[in-house]
Amino acid sequence: MAKPTRTRVIAFSNDAIAEAARLVLAGEPVAVPTETVYGLAADATNPEAVARIYEAKGRPSFNPLIVHVPDVAAAEQLGDFNEAARALAKAYWPGPLTLVVPLKREAQIASLVTAGLPTIALRVPAHPAMQALLKAVGKPLAAPSANASGRISPTKAEHVLASLDSRIPLIIDGGSAERGIESTIVAATGGPLRLLRRGPVQINAPEASGAIEAPGMMASHYAPSKPLRLDATSGEAGEFLIGFGQVAGDATLSASSSLVEAAARLFDLLHQADAASQPRIAVAPIPGDGLAAAIRDRLKRAAAPRS
Ligand code: AMP
Ligand code: MG
Repeated sequence: MAKPTRTRVIAFSNDAIAEAARLVLAGEPVAVPTETVYGLAADATNPEAVARIYEAKGRPSFNPLIVHVPDVAAAEQLGDFNEAARALAKAYWPGPLTLVVPLKREAQIASLVTAGLPTIALRVPAHPAMQALLKAVGKPLAAPSANASGRISPTKAEHVLASLDSRIPLIIDGGSAERGIESTIVAATGGPLRLLRRGPVQINAPEASGAIEAPGMMASHYAPSKPLRLDATSGEAGEFLIGFGQVAGDATLSASSSLVEAAARLFDLLHQADAASQPRIAVAPIPGDGLAAAIRDRLKRAAAPRS
């Protein structure tokens, strides 16, 4: 549970953007209008800032987040664009289209943003408030919809306040989000384009319906290749132990039992454990609600037998 904060609502202005940028650079998520819905934006290069998005939303699982950038050039610093992706970017950006492309190795994006995947979802938004924030911050912004998990996507500042009051420091009020529906998502990760989510932009590509959810098919969920044992209070021979709190392990999610730190490190440590010499992975218990539940959800999926 996020610690209570006073949530301020400030009308979109240069001053409001300066304050939002200050908070984002300090690692806080802030709500900002886009042309689709209000987004909850955090510095995509700061793992703990991204963990605070999940903390504020109370999302019970980690899904990859859309990364917002000010222009095509900034997008191409983070992802590899093939001809088809470049053509779509040229035709629809800035606007309500998200492109999933291979993540550049050198991109400094927190692994929690992509949920450990080798691909990244990128969008250049058209809304002047989000554009202004991107320019003021000078970093890519991860931003899912600014609502608590399970609530409908917010198209007005009041909706954000009703859902996230005292969980985030600032909402920029830019009136009604024009489109009111989430961006169209297209994957350009090799082979033909695939439509991952319908939205405001009509794209003529085969729909990857169902496939998005099916692990392995779309690889929408990262999982290590090794067997994984949950709730381990000590490591057995042949195990790389991921620790938490009292359980030190070969590496720890958080020695101080901080859930924000643990969420921020989760995918990096899973990758590290997968690359280690031990043939198996064990993970310490992560007790609690909120972020702890989201971490356990991901670990349970990673521990589930795969074919
Ligand atoms: P939201 O930010 O809540 O609008 O949702 C983001 C959507 O983008 C989710 O449906 C994700 O599954 C999808 N998405 C983001 N990154 C990726 C990725 N790397 N591969 C596939 N889907 C993605
Ligand atoms: Mg949403």
